Amino acid sequence: MNIAIVGAGLMGRLLALSLLRQKQSSSVTITLFDKDNKLAHHSAAYAAAGLLTPLGESLHCQPNIVSMGFESLRLWPSLLDSLHEHTMFQQTGAIMVSHEQDKGDYQRFVRHLKNNYPEQASYSLNRAELLELEPEIGRSFNQALYLPQEGQLGNRRLLVALRKQLEKESPHASTGNRLNWLSECQVVEINTSEESSSLGYIKGGDKHSQQFDLVIDCRGTGATSKNSHDTCAPLADLRSVRGELFQLFAPEVNISRPVRLMHPRYQLYIAPKGKGFYVVGATEIESDDDSPMTVRSAMELLSAAYSVHPGFAEANIRQHVSQCRPAFSDNQPKITVQDTLIQVNGLFRHGFLIAPVVLKQTLAVIDNRINNTEIALPYADLFSGIVAG
Ligand SMILES: Cc1cc2nc3c(=O)[nH]c(=O)nc-3n(C[C@H](O)[C@H](O)[C@H](O)COP(=O)(O)OP(=O)(O)OC[C@H]3O[C@@H](n4cnc5c(N)ncnc54)[C@H](O)[C@@H]3O)c2cc1C
Repeated sequence: MNIAIVGAGLMGRLLALSLLRQKQSSSVTITLFDKDNKLAHHSAAYAAAGLLTPLGESLHCQPNIVSMGFESLRLWPSLLDSLHEHTMFQQTGAIMVSHEQDKGDYQRFVRHLKNNYPEQASYSLNRAELLELEPEIGRSFNQALYLPQEGQLGNRRLLVALRKQLEKESPHASTGNRLNWLSECQVVEINTSEESSSLGYIKGGDKHSQQFDLVIDCRGTGATSKNSHDTCAPLADLRSVRGELFQLFAPEVNISRPVRLMHPRYQLYIAPKGKGFYVVGATEIESDDDSPMTVRSAMELLSAAYSVHPGFAEANIRQHVSQCRPAFSDNQPKITVQDTLIQVNGLFRHGFLIAPVVLKQTLAVIDNRINNTEIALPYADLFSGIVAG
């Protein structure tokens, strides 16, 4: 059997590895296409902060995303343990803070958690308690909310670890499945029928075409109608949402867990990445523009970071990143099935937060498609967006 995966970002890599490891009645050849090289520096997955903070996100998303987040936090450790290369995974909680003038937003968030997620642990800290938990943050704030189950992972390390694992496990010793990774190969045409799908792609300036039993489309924002040709199965309702963030080197700053600053206009987070590195982000702008960061965004992000910890004044700016997140109009992830084409998209600002759940659900959809079965999907209750084309 021949399966194509289009897009080697977050979902494409996770799906390729799972399919490589999964035994089918006959061996499978997986062809993984990406227009980028294997470093994936133009993917949303590379740009991201890697926060796994379901409660922190809960003001901006539906409760099913929060549930997917908690379930994924449970699934990530075994997924990461199955990779040879180490990826940072931390679940030591996150801290929400606000300045005195923005206390209203902070109190609204505390009430929101109490009313909507009473079963999830959250602790109000006074200054002394905050000083004990995060000594350098306690100097700037009188109170904070501690959410002990929130986490984060090293998203860039994960992309590297997945690449190495895919190379190591092909051909797979027990399943006999193989991976053929075609990088710098832009897919420009997808034609699907009941029996097979054909892909047209550009490699080294030449157009090629190949037939597959099944195509799994994980192009992220590459599948919006603006970025995709008419013949390339655009997802009509998909849009791009711009996000910008900084990577700072601040060896004098000691923060050990993600910190979110409540603010009326934007939500800033500071994610410690180890060895003095911090990610400070992220804007959310309704635009498909991925040009470099604007001065306005830079000023807002950096001044907010400085207000959380004055030590950021001496930080080196190592990188500023702008990239778009793929989102449907309801901001829900969707798995769309049409003949021999399965499209997985719309992970929006929650890709890492919900990836293990989306992965399991997609694998079940693929299994049903390959084996012509209708076995119940594992997350039917959480996953509203499964559409048969
Ligand atoms: C600034 C920012 C911060 C974020 N922070 C977080 C966070 O803290 N936590 C979290 O959970 N999520 C976060 N996200 C969201 C997360 O990164 C995305 O939801 C996730 O990466 C989407 O995964 P994907 O596989 O669908 O797309 P991507 O990771 O973007 O991968 C798509 C791949 O498809 C390839 N491609 C596109 N078109 C074609 C084509 N025609 N032919 C071949 N290849 C193609 C691209 O090159 C790319 O490699 C953030 C995103 C951004 C932009």
